[in-house]
Amino acid sequence: MYEQGVIRPPSEAQSLLIRVTRNCPWNQCIFCPAYKGVKFSRRTVEEVKKDIDNMEKEYASYKGMIRSAFLQDADSLVLKTSDILEIINYTKGKFPGLDRITTYARATTLKRKSVEELKELYSAGLTRIHVGMESGSANVLKMIRKGITPEDIVEGGKKVVEAGMSLSEYIMPGVGGKTMSSENAIETARLLNQIKPDFIRVRTFAMHPKSPMRKLVESGTFVTMNDIEIVEEIRLLVANLDEMHTYFSCGDFSLNLLMQVDGYLDEKKPYMLSELDKFLSLTPDQQKIYALLRRSSYMQYPIEAVQNEEVMKKILPEIEKLERDDPDGFHKYIEMLKSYQLPQPQTDDWK
Ligand code: SF4
Repeated sequence: MYEQGVIRPPSEAQSLLIRVTRNCPWNQCIFCPAYKGVKFSRRTVEEVKKDIDNMEKEYASYKGMIRSAFLQDADSLVLKTSDILEIINYTKGKFPGLDRITTYARATTLKRKSVEELKELYSAGLTRIHVGMESGSANVLKMIRKGITPEDIVEGGKKVVEAGMSLSEYIMPGVGGKTMSSENAIETARLLNQIKPDFIRVRTFAMHPKSPMRKLVESGTFVTMNDIEIVEEIRLLVANLDEMHTYFSCGDFSLNLLMQVDGYLDEKKPYMLSELDKFLSLTPDQQKIYALLRRSSYMQYPIEAVQNEEVMKKILPEIEKLERDDPDGFHKYIEMLKSYQLPQPQTDDWK
């Protein structure tokens, strides 16, 4: 028996999951259901080692083939550096085939570590840090109660880069709502251009039905964006990003409408902009058809799919049905489909 946390990045799907802390020490972001209703705690090195022993037994027949490990949960670097080093060294002793160990960390936690500590962790085998920055806008960060500032994001990110580790920054188009959409795109690009991370991973915003953000919607403080408006925001973001050697990824997350917008910025920025423009130049009906095709399955479709007469004839009546009683019925339906992909809070009383 060993413990596992509820989430890990999609890129860690094949990784050994080693839970070094439980849940999130901050846990106040109003968009994030992942750890709501459960408390943060640190695990002792001895507890973690027992888990690693149990995993070694369970995976005995193919443990040499396991190449990567991910330290869970939301902010593993809150542990003492010496404890993390001990866990990493122990894991590598048990799983000698590992060539990549990664973890999530909050920007404020990274800020507290010295570059020397991060270098030590890197030398021991911690090769990549995943950071949820969500937005570069101070106003958006404040509204979503992220508990970090743009300065924290830049300082934390730059330290990881300086230590030689690979850095994945996660961003959330749409999380600023309509009022802060441009600010969200421009400020996020401004920070990322300074940090120059290895990966920018796009996580299109979707609202959980139990999220406290619903109250902001009711009070008019937060105006949700539909799929088409979020594509416009991503277009502004990409246009403002430098052509640096950073992998901009929509392809690893199915909530992103245009998953083909994916590649190194210094090689594929013109292609990515042209894909976004291709979508934005469709008629409103074609854009809705594309959104419905994508949201109804995990399949990816070329944008040209909506120019097919047969597809149009089949799907348009469905959209008309959704809009018959409510002009916004289609977008509400899409919002519902998107929310199905979110993790569930572990409480009915998410405040
Ligand atoms: S987004 Fe990250 S920091 Fe915020 S509550 Fe969720 S896990 Fe914690």
